[in-house]
Amino acid sequence: TSSIFTAVEMAPRDPILGLNEAFNADTRAGKVNLGVGVYYDDNGKIPLLAAVKAAEKTRMDAQPPRGYQAIEGLGAYNQAVQNLVFGADSELVSSGRVVTAEALGGTGALKIGADFLKRLNADASVYISDPSWENHRALFESAGFKVENYPYYDVATRGVNFTAMKAALLGLPAGSIIILHACCHNPTGADMSDAQWAEVVEACRERNLVPFLDMAYQGFADGIDADAVAVRLFSASGLQFFVSSSFSKSFSMYGERVGALSIVTASREEAGRVLSQLKRVIRTNYSNPPIHGGAVVAAVLANPELRQQWEDELAGMRDRIRAMRTSLVAKLAERGVAQDFSFVAAQRGMFSYTGLTAAQVEVLKDEYGIYAVSTGRICLAALNTKNIDYVADAIAKVL
Ligand code: PLP
Repeated sequence: TSSIFTAVEMAPRDPILGLNEAFNADTRAGKVNLGVGVYYDDNGKIPLLAAVKAAEKTRMDAQPPRGYQAIEGLGAYNQAVQNLVFGADSELVSSGRVVTAEALGGTGALKIGADFLKRLNADASVYISDPSWENHRALFESAGFKVENYPYYDVATRGVNFTAMKAALLGLPAGSIIILHACCHNPTGADMSDAQWAEVVEACRERNLVPFLDMAYQGFADGIDADAVAVRLFSASGLQFFVSSSFSKSFSMYGERVGALSIVTASREEAGRVLSQLKRVIRTNYSNPPIHGGAVVAAVLANPELRQQWEDELAGMRDRIRAMRTSLVAKLAERGVAQDFSFVAAQRGMFSYTGLTAAQVEVLKDEYGIYAVSTGRICLAALNTKNIDYVADAIAKVL
């Protein structure tokens, strides 16, 4: 008799996880993995932040019971998220117009947001930047949406092709859902200026679009409030919009899955109705979120000393990435590379689209054990003072 799984085909490998597997199998001593989307410290380790360690110790000593959380998660956590995302003095928050639910990382927030939107407007299409984080398309398609691209990255300027992007937005059907990277665009590192964001807000108003801001790297470009410029501009617009946020990177808590979905509504009364429906979505996905990560983040943010310690540690991560950006640019120039790489220092967040071709990326891997994504995306947070000369040497040679 045949198995019920006989017809199941092998799914394509996740390109980035596949890269990690190849890296792990590589036995060369000097190998470097620039393909990841994780922050490593100067010793090449994922940090456990001191603020997190302190909050975890307090929690473990208290030995709290492990009952179910509310469907929308911990109230203190959701409030802390609102303060970070919308600002401590947000009128939207104080007037009760923002619904926030704790979610399983930024991915979980996008997923419950997508499922909620599907119930709201099943026929809308979703538009993501070209290129985008590869999971955006898959997530919204798996929620049942048709997913299209809007123009974003400009290879010639290594920045945003804003003229093309804006023209595309102004041509979208009303009700279209548009996914925007609030800061630190993944994979390109190219962000919009504040003035361009203001124009995006107006385009969304003019075309009645549904903005969905994905903020996975708050604090990784310029700081917590500075990186929330896009959210603040949408907040001031009077429009309704969605924000997914994540502490995976900013708290270095990747595996604890701490994120949140916030939905800005028109009134407190509307917020109540929206939350009631969002809770149905959560209930049928995973019932309620896990306790630990959210409790730790809430504890850090509620304690002035720990919060300051976290902000200092976050600034440390941000500054180290910036130092690696400027250092790589300088080291490539020192090695006589004619091509101008100064754009690497201007891009923001963890990633850069280097312009390295798939063939050059292949040579980096085969000859030097340096792993990057075939699109030329590298993670600057995987560089450190010990490996950067080796990487600069190799890039200079493959160019
Ligand atoms: N959105 C973007 C743009 C990302 O780059 C990532 C992580 O790489 C996520 C969302 C998901 O974050 P999380 O790991 O918290 O699910």
